[in-house]
Amino acid sequence: MAKEKKFVESITDMEVDFPQWYTDVVKKADLTAYSSLKGCMIIRPYGYAIWELLQRQLDDRFKETGVENVYMPMFIPESLLQKEKDHVEGFAPEVAWVTHGGEKKLEERICVRPTSETLFCEHYANIVQSYRDLPKLYNQWCSVVRWEKTTRPFLRTMEFLWQEGHTAHATAEEAQERTIQMLNIYADFCRDVLAIPVIKGEKTEKERFAGAAHTFTIESLMHDGKALQSGTSHNFGDGFAHAFGIQYTDKENKLQYVHQTSWGMTTRMIGAIIMVHGDNSGLVLPPRIAPTQVMIVPIVQKKEGVLEKAAELKNRLAKVCRVKLDDSDKSAGWKFSEYEMKGIPVRLEIGPKDIEQNQCVLARRDTGEKIFVSLDELETRVPALLDEIHENMLKKATEHRESRTYVAKTMDEFEKIINETPGFIKAMWCGDQACEDAIKERTAATSRCIPFEQEEISDVCVCCGKPAKHMVYWGRAY
Ligand code: AMP
Ligand code: ZN
Repeated sequence: MAKEKKFVESITDMEVDFPQWYTDVVKKADLTAYSSLKGCMIIRPYGYAIWELLQRQLDDRFKETGVENVYMPMFIPESLLQKEKDHVEGFAPEVAWVTHGGEKKLEERICVRPTSETLFCEHYANIVQSYRDLPKLYNQWCSVVRWEKTTRPFLRTMEFLWQEGHTAHATAEEAQERTIQMLNIYADFCRDVLAIPVIKGEKTEKERFAGAAHTFTIESLMHDGKALQSGTSHNFGDGFAHAFGIQYTDKENKLQYVHQTSWGMTTRMIGAIIMVHGDNSGLVLPPRIAPTQVMIVPIVQKKEGVLEKAAELKNRLAKVCRVKLDDSDKSAGWKFSEYEMKGIPVRLEIGPKDIEQNQCVLARRDTGEKIFVSLDELETRVPALLDEIHENMLKKATEHRESRTYVAKTMDEFEKIINETPGFIKAMWCGDQACEDAIKERTAATSRCIPFEQEEISDVCVCCGKPAKHMVYWGRAY
């Protein structure tokens, strides 16, 4: 191993400096490049290929539930943004403004969308008239801009790619159902595609989306014990409908306000993949999101017949997975380290001896294990192995999260845990924001969510000792 390492510049050890490890992986796996504007990133082909796979699979899941894609303008006139008071107040500190068109100062400032509720609302006010027009289940794939103070590739950038779903419904019940349906789609997607287990729950009022009645979230735990908000689904009730006049006539010919939802997932998830699954050799990609699932590396490729055999295997495997063959003249050792760094789930080695024995070697990125497989069984063994790798990665991530999920009954316990071995802390809360603030002040941990699965850890608030209302997941977050 040590010998192979030197072919590819090594990365910082994750136990020594996790943030630096992350930066190294992002760069060495060639996912992004720096852009001249700090806080923005260039997504390189390999990073973008991951995004495309994420996008495609999430989009399919949306469409199965009747969602349709649209495209809204990237600009929002200030007067439109102002229409919903809480919303504009919440987003004001992060909004980028366009003040000039060419040299000419604009009469009204135009905001670069930080999110598009206002645009969808204006549109819905125009197109929704009767109960027959409902529900409206729209989504758009686009980029948004939020003027973030501290940024990090994928996890928090000033411009990020995302999808934002916006729906309008006849009833409150239907809107709530849709809010949870989309949260479940995110959670299932994380588990079944990204191999990331998540906690589902509701945000506290303090952490709620500006203008929402309820914000639901999925929270995941990174390898270093920090939490990551990984997707949100908001129920707006009829607040935006009142602000924007989105009304329909019901079956009794009475005017009613619609009930709305919105939900989003972003390029942040690529950061989550890196931080949940990565190791000291680089990226480890869950097979279902890996642009290349199997990389064929010929051994002693100058020997007659090796490259031909490798190409033949590639053609066969192309029917059952995403496969590539590296027949470049770089050394096999260099190729091994390079594709380890890039997190390719399976490396297939084929050399003269293997060919003689009608076999090849499959090397797993997740465990390092090498398996000899008969070439006759290739098309069945490889997809099965990819599934096995997915399951193993999910299991590992779940075990890690469980080993770093704690219970705290007092603030001393809370503080000790968060400083020594950070992770999720389950603790009771009275529901008072003052306690949330006090906890953040003392420990830098924030409330991640009020999980749907409640536990009765104690009957008093961990902070003030008054009667507890909820069990809350707390943690330091990205
Ligand atoms: P929101 O519209 O605020 O509910 O955000 C939707 C999702 O976007 C959140 O769940 C976050 O995971 C993600 N997110 C928020 N800010 C950023 C950012 N600056 N960069 C990348 N992702 C973000
Ligand atoms: Zn309290």
